Amino acid sequence: MDFPEYSHCQLCPRQCGADRAAGKFGFCGEGAELHIAAIEAHFGEEPPLVGKEGSGTVFLTGCSCGCFFCQNYQLSTEHVGEFLNLSEATRRILALAEKGVRNINFVTPDHYWPHLRAILKELRAADCWLPVVWNSSGYSTIQTLAEALDNGVDIFLPDYKYATAELAKECMGREDYPEIAFEDIKFLVDRAGFLRPFDETGDMPASRGVLVRHLVLPGEVQNSIQILDNLYNEFGPRLPVSVMRQFRPMPQCFARGRFTRVVSDEEYQQVMDHVMELGFQRIFLQPDAGDENFVPDFRHQGEAFKGNAIAQGREF
Ligand code: SF4
Repeated sequence: MDFPEYSHCQLCPRQCGADRAAGKFGFCGEGAELHIAAIEAHFGEEPPLVGKEGSGTVFLTGCSCGCFFCQNYQLSTEHVGEFLNLSEATRRILALAEKGVRNINFVTPDHYWPHLRAILKELRAADCWLPVVWNSSGYSTIQTLAEALDNGVDIFLPDYKYATAELAKECMGREDYPEIAFEDIKFLVDRAGFLRPFDETGDMPASRGVLVRHLVLPGEVQNSIQILDNLYNEFGPRLPVSVMRQFRPMPQCFARGRFTRVVSDEEYQQVMDHVMELGFQRIFLQPDAGDENFVPDFRHQGEAFKGNAIAQGREF
């Protein structure tokens, strides 16, 4: 199946216009063939997305954000993955759904949205009505998000990584990330509301809405504080927020001499204190950063995740 969107690609805010249909690659490093790194149950998402069943994750290869410290650098930089046609990808996703996972979770979906839209149609035609999750870096065009909403995506997990143009420029080469990410979150909350039901135990599966994620970076507590202030001032205390501390230095961190360590206990405590001071009422925190096994290895098909840093939820 051919998708016209790949001919002059505008699928992400980089709008680089690559003619992927003609075999060219855009900034995301992906062409017009569906490239998938893993289709498997994953237990490292927040409890309402996981429960005992796991989240049915579909990891897309490539990324239009391109942060140098990417925790999934095998996908964003090394482009590990398998080229699948639509029917084979759909068949594998349906097989995963039949195992009883809680949702279908597309990770880094923007640059493959036309394929995912077609897969979604096939899933529904096959009577698969699991909630569908859009698990993204928070750097999307409003048009892509609107189409995702209109085509049956239920849950949105946007990152909100950088509060300042300077940090965004340093990490991903774009100054527009803070503004775009924030406008995206406003749009999604307006259209889909907050994540619900919000059950921090994980007994009740989430079925709809937005949960914002933020990864704390070593030495960048002030960035996290500004992110939290922005979210609180716009959405108030009921916005569900996940504040993660699972950062691990990746090879490019050492090459650049930046973010070469994990987040310290003191740093994470400062951020948690600010979450509490502001009065957020629905939060997921990671007081335990997990171990090295948290970093996925996508070269091991079917078992990319040896360990998971588990988020602990609280509702006040
Ligand atoms: S999705 Fe990829 S090819 Fe399309 S605009 Fe973004 S970076 Fe360019």
